[in-house]
Amino acid sequence: MDRGISWRPGLERIAPYQPGKPIEEVERELGISNAVKLASNENPLGPSPRVREALRRAAGAVHRYPDGACFGLRAALSRRLGVKPGELLLGNGSNELLVLLGQAYLRPGDEVLTSRQTFVVYEMVALLANAKLVAVPLRNYAYDLDALRRAVTPRTRLIFIANPNNPTGTAVEPRELRAFVDRVPGRCLVVLDEAYFEYMDPAFQADTLSWVRKRSNLVVLRTFSKAYALAGLRVGYGVAHASVAQAIERVREPFNVNHLAQAGAVAALADPAHMRRAVSLAKRERKRVSRALADLGCEVAPSQANFVFARVPRGDGRACYGRVLRLGVILRPMPGPYVRITLGTKAENDKMLSAMKAVVAVL
Ligand code: PMP
Repeated sequence: MDRGISWRPGLERIAPYQPGKPIEEVERELGISNAVKLASNENPLGPSPRVREALRRAAGAVHRYPDGACFGLRAALSRRLGVKPGELLLGNGSNELLVLLGQAYLRPGDEVLTSRQTFVVYEMVALLANAKLVAVPLRNYAYDLDALRRAVTPRTRLIFIANPNNPTGTAVEPRELRAFVDRVPGRCLVVLDEAYFEYMDPAFQADTLSWVRKRSNLVVLRTFSKAYALAGLRVGYGVAHASVAQAIERVREPFNVNHLAQAGAVAALADPAHMRRAVSLAKRERKRVSRALADLGCEVAPSQANFVFARVPRGDGRACYGRVLRLGVILRPMPGPYVRITLGTKAENDKMLSAMKAVVAVL
């Protein structure tokens, strides 16, 4: 049988990324309508009206290549964050920046240090570069910074820290994070992935952008996909020493952030009140949903993000996911007895909670 031309060695070890199930697919398969998707940590409120208007206006120019330098978006972010334009990294989602950092910094045999039960793309980045993934266990659902520090070796090159963590939603104490960053050897690049930064309570929001000013081996990544509700446009950004930004310039595609994405992101930045509404909703709902799930017998990790991670009382996460799916609610099953649930609107969460109540009773 013709199995096709052989792959590059190592590629078979990379599992394709599994996205959350699309609503349309679930409705088609189950013959239902009004399914609720709480599987991809998206923003349930949708984009700002300013973004919609900016996209309408930008649509007429999509026959041209986008601005490869992202001049307008770079300037707006630079003003908002108080960093120099040359200290910004822009990507097709922060996901692309993770991959580009791997391309720019990893040599075969280098070690990529992170945690177990964290964002799966970190492992992909390591495997793509033929680097070795070193993943230390979580402690109480959270990154264990002491274990991470002990796992640093002379071969460690990249350290990925998701803060808050995906899938568990937990955040680390700013003081502990600062102590960790201060003790990392200068040859290791620390990537603080703050995709859910806006959702953290102020006590957890470390002033990481100011840390970058004093350290050339630190990158802070954020995204427009979550609090700014632009997941479908794909825009992420990073703040780092100018030399990191220059390295990314060498490995990125010429037009990696598309025209609509740039226009949408600039408009989203101009409507911070819309972003704050989404964040307030998520904070309110994570308290309510966490408590309600605990009342159903689930163990719920303390979340600082727009989703919660729950251990179902019996059975496994996949069984729970399958049964809840039949009731029109899409969650994300996790290995073992866990599910990850994105916080939706109050009505969506109510629908999810009643489905979970019915399912947990028969697991
Ligand atoms: N980092 C973390 C921790 C995430 O959960 C995600 C999204 N699932 C990303 C990065 C990538 O987000 P995006 O590419 O949409 O910016």
